[in-house]
Amino acid sequence: MRPFRFCPADSSPLEDPDGEGGRRCPKCGRSWYRNASPTVGAAIVRDGKALVTVRGREPNKGRLDVPGGFLGPMEHPVDGLVREVKEELGVAVEVASEDCISMAVHTYGNEDEPVLALGFLTTYVAGEYSPDDDVADLRWVEASELDDLDFAWPHDRELVRKALEHG
Ligand SMILES: [Zn+2]
Repeated sequence: MRPFRFCPADSSPLEDPDGEGGRRCPKCGRSWYRNASPTVGAAIVRDGKALVTVRGREPNKGRLDVPGGFLGPMEHPVDGLVREVKEELGVAVEVASEDCISMAVHTYGNEDEPVLALGFLTTYVAGEYSPDDDVADLRWVEASELDDLDFAWPHDRELVRKALEHG
């Protein structure tokens, strides 16, 4: 991951690292940090199986992940999770616990982006499962299958494992 070279606010060339991992803009005075983008993912468990989704888009199209996505700029992780699950699957969930937080790297082309992955255990509330275009298919999987499944990112496998252990 490269540091920012120009100020995202006013396009001025940024000064050398300020010693705290950021780069300072000589014009507006802001320091810019390339820290991790927070993303949320939901483990949904029913009858001893967890729901995983087949990615409908690049990167990693055709591989597995869980419903979820990136948060809006001021969106609370729990609100973002409920929104993403509703958008992607058409169902309402509520968060049961918030105890699967991981740091990860997602690769876009040849750029590695750090990601703060916030995983949630959820319980189904209502609605018919009707995936949108981001989701090519969905499958219900059990704990014994997890190591053989082709997850795009290891943190999703660990979230699902934790959810299945949880009940
Ligand atoms: Zn600036």
